[in-house]
Amino acid sequence: METIILAVVIFVVVVAAASGLVVSGRRRKSLPKPPSKAGTLAPPAPPKEPQVGEDAETPRDTPTRTIEDVSLPGEAGATVEPTEVEEPETAAEAPAVEVPEPTAGRLVRLRSRLSRSQNSLGKGLLSLLSRDRLDEDTWEEIEETLLVADVGVGPTQELVDALRTRVKVLGTRTPQELRELLREELVKLLGDFDRSLRTAKHADEDPVRPAVAMVVGVNGTGKTTTTGKLARVLVADGRTVVLGAADTFRAAAADQLQTWGERVGARTVRGPEGGDPASVAFDAVKEGIAEGADTVLVDTAGRLHTKTGLMDELGKVKRVVEKHGPVDEVLLVLDATTGQNGLVQARVFAEVVNITGIVLTKLDGTAKGGIVIQVQRELGVPVKLIGLGEGPDDLAPFDAGQYVDGLLGEVE
Ligand code: GDP
Repeated sequence: METIILAVVIFVVVVAAASGLVVSGRRRKSLPKPPSKAGTLAPPAPPKEPQVGEDAETPRDTPTRTIEDVSLPGEAGATVEPTEVEEPETAAEAPAVEVPEPTAGRLVRLRSRLSRSQNSLGKGLLSLLSRDRLDEDTWEEIEETLLVADVGVGPTQELVDALRTRVKVLGTRTPQELRELLREELVKLLGDFDRSLRTAKHADEDPVRPAVAMVVGVNGTGKTTTTGKLARVLVADGRTVVLGAADTFRAAAADQLQTWGERVGARTVRGPEGGDPASVAFDAVKEGIAEGADTVLVDTAGRLHTKTGLMDELGKVKRVVEKHGPVDEVLLVLDATTGQNGLVQARVFAEVVNITGIVLTKLDGTAKGGIVIQVQRELGVPVKLIGLGEGPDDLAPFDAGQYVDGLLGEVE
């Protein structure tokens, strides 16, 4: 009997030990595997936790995702304790990073979008100037066409005067001659600005500091989209970029920006919703320095409740960022379709911060191509980039000659 009891006890112990192994084996199985789905993780750079700087009191999160965000292949529903995951990124494969289109030739590729509209400035002017008789009524129509296209009163008068003189001298007019004449005068009106973007790092400083560009503008103008597209422009030109999601008031803005960044391997520094934009901007530059990045692009909030509010906020962002060193570019994003309203906004921003360049968005399909001339006149600041569509590479460095070619339609 005793032998039987002993045998039963031994059996029970053995079974218990064996099942314990299975359980721990299962546990081991449920340990997270290095996630490998392309595009689901943070950019390939090693995870450096940017430190909160002297002014940056707000807790912030980097684009690093926790394991809960990543579904493990073949383990749907598996319970994974985050503590078991030490560094999900280190083991992760690099996400599929896109190669953006080169910037050279972008405006040439996109320029046909400028003359798509039936009432486009160029087409309208060319057909009026081709009339047999250029009487007062026709000149008035020409003037009106320019005003409707947002060229502005002053530049319109200058252009009409110049055209009148030159057309008289010309005598008979072939379409080709008219086109050339108009091209020259419009290019003249667009002015001779330095349109280059200062985006190269400050290699002569210690520590070496990235160039910093702040992107400002009213919500809805395409500011965040433009910041993302600009990151692609810079990456296409061989720069490394860090993005700062300092538009902490619009919940979706940081996610939107991060998605743009991930596509080209640029890290996005972001803070909690409603957090302090200046501290996010500060941390972004700090991260840029730590990564040895060429350029930091800071997307800012564009609420225009009161001028004082805007001034306080943008002023603070700039001041705090400049603890690292001067900001290199302040780019104002304007929606080309908003006409006079856009100009009013531009004036307000120009009073608040020192704008170094203008980005005009949504020029595709609008008949308001003359706004480029007017806004430059108003602010004395060059248009440096233009948005010609919703595609990721539909942002082009501005070139006066190519732009006018776009307005006038394809060369015959
Ligand atoms: P934000 O509020 O200023 O940051 O504006 P978003 O970046 O969210 O953009 C607002 C909308 O404008 C989005 O639907 C963009 O796709 C669109 N958008 C931006 N730039 C252009 C452009 O150049 N052309 C066109 N057609 N749409 C644009």
